Amino acid sequence: LPDKLPAIGATIFSRMSQLAAQHGAINLGQGFPDFDCDPALLEAVNRALHAGHNQYPPMPGIPLLRQRVAAQLLGGHGRAYDAEAEITITAGATQALFTAIQCSVGAGDEVILIEPAYDSYIPAIRLAGATPVGVPMTADYRIDWDAVRAALTPRTRALILNTPHNPSGRVASEDDLRTLAALAEQHDLIVISDEVYEHMVFDGQAHQSVAKHPALAARSFLISSFGKTFHVTGWKVGFVAAPQALSAAFRKLHQYTVFTVNTPAQWGLADYMADPAPWQGLADFYQAKRDAFRAGLAATPLKLLPCEGTYFQTVDYSAVSDVPELAFAEWLTTQIGVAAIPLSVFYSRPQERRQVRFCFAKKAATLEAALGRLQALR
Ligand code: PMP
Ligand code: GLN
Repeated sequence: LPDKLPAIGATIFSRMSQLAAQHGAINLGQGFPDFDCDPALLEAVNRALHAGHNQYPPMPGIPLLRQRVAAQLLGGHGRAYDAEAEITITAGATQALFTAIQCSVGAGDEVILIEPAYDSYIPAIRLAGATPVGVPMTADYRIDWDAVRAALTPRTRALILNTPHNPSGRVASEDDLRTLAALAEQHDLIVISDEVYEHMVFDGQAHQSVAKHPALAARSFLISSFGKTFHVTGWKVGFVAAPQALSAAFRKLHQYTVFTVNTPAQWGLADYMADPAPWQGLADFYQAKRDAFRAGLAATPLKLLPCEGTYFQTVDYSAVSDVPELAFAEWLTTQIGVAAIPLSVFYSRPQERRQVRFCFAKKAATLEAALGRLQALR
């Protein structure tokens, strides 16, 4: 068979989850909650199943769910997306990202990614025939706009933004988005904005969505995931919001990629998303987990990096070990009993750092048990 992704093996998330299971480690690697969603959401999907919502929905998603998303984006960011033409329900953010990339770029095009970058971007860019161009963040995980400018060429067609940022937990500032808007206009770029952690921004900061910035919204695919927002990562339902021309291009591919997305989940989500917005309180919920987890980590030799959003905490382990990140993550999983994700997997070039990522979307008891093990580190 033709190997279209010769440099790529199983994802780090599958590998570390498997290793954790084999060794009975507490899995703080792959990002998913170990607690269930709101029972009201389960009931809403159950009602949908029993109300006969079990056949194909309309290709772009059921109108009510698209209207709910439009209301969310209007209320949250002041941008009116047309639910009919500009919002499409997808099979998670992964499919939204994949399809947005396929319809935006092709052979000869370059796509800028800010590294560390989520692992699904590069394979999707390569499958589109385009070239990924990784631009490292600064040492403290801010976007290095001078480096972005230096990476732009006449072939640069798109840039992928991710805020709140996986794996660093940083959130982009208003200035970042203004700078991006100016660059994107100047160089006529499409922006693919991965906002799956949009409702997990801490300490009173605001999420900077492309939808807040009209010049950016006009050239962006805004992508999010109900899996993250409602603690149901296994449902794989997300959305993309984009101006009409971009949405039309997206749907052209979407109809032949998945055609449609799980009907009862769409009805259940739409029902559940009626007022008051069920994601209210989500930031506080995860901020409390972050604080408890950081307090526990402070009693270990691991050095905490900032966490302004997402449900990931990154640490520097150089006081414990000098082995490379993948080896350390494997050792931590098999010998200490806590699985983590090495940051090196989010870069296209080798890194000298000594950092791993933990997921704190876990029950208090899980986090306490993991901290107990990590506190044995010397
Ligand atoms: N983007 C980022 C930054 C992520 O962390 C994830 C992981 N969930 C995704 C996209 C994929 O989201 P989904 O599970 O909805 O496909
Ligand atoms: N997004 C999740 C993470 O960063 C993992 C999703 C996956 O397993 N591909 O951990």
